[in-house]
Amino acid sequence: MPKKVLVLEDESSIRSFVVINLGRAGYEPIEAGTAEEAFERITENPDIQVALLDIMLPGEMNGLEVCRRLRAANPAMGIIMLTAKAQEVDKVTGLMNGADDYITKPFSTPELIARVDVMFRRVGGTPEAAAPAKLVSGPFSLDLTSRTLHKNGERIKLTGIEFDIVTIFLENPGKAFSRQEILSKVWTNGNGSDTKIVDVNIRRLRIKLEDDPTNPVYINTIWSFGYKWGE
Ligand code: CA
Repeated sequence: MPKKVLVLEDESSIRSFVVINLGRAGYEPIEAGTAEEAFERITENPDIQVALLDIMLPGEMNGLEVCRRLRAANPAMGIIMLTAKAQEVDKVTGLMNGADDYITKPFSTPELIARVDVMFRRVGGTPEAAAPAKLVSGPFSLDLTSRTLHKNGERIKLTGIEFDIVTIFLENPGKAFSRQEILSKVWTNGNGSDTKIVDVNIRRLRIKLEDDPTNPVYINTIWSFGYKWGE
């Protein structure tokens, strides 16, 4: 059963960020840029269980009004408001209008997915465990549940550290990470460790992942800074 999430957000960059990441986490995002579109999508997809609603929208109806109407029509739907930092009042109003939760912009991918996961468990639409989280990029498929990586369907054996590095990359494709950042994210208790250990692991990963490790296309070096996944 598809786990449909309505994403009502007029800013296309935020909307596509949310849509891409929900899709990677196994959800089926349904996009809307205006309140009117949101109601159309809901009519077309009555099995939407969770809605993410931006508050400030173009047109006559804002996200709070959408929330009020959705709640009136769907008592069981999980509703999460997307609020800007300065909109403390809107959070309260949103909750008063029937929202279950809110996320303050800017938010990270793990934060977004965690909130949506919680909402899905709470609305209880699907009793089975959440679909295994998979991150897919080009020929690679990373299964976060079994902690395995496949390239073109073939298993690539990784150490725990290598797996964690690939996870950060695939969760943030195109994002530049400094060596220090990778070090502190992966070697969580590695305070004071030398960032050279990052380089060593990257070198090993390239041998395992790249078609030609001397001309890497997946793990790219950012000169005198660090690394990023892809372009
Ligand atoms: Ca907006």
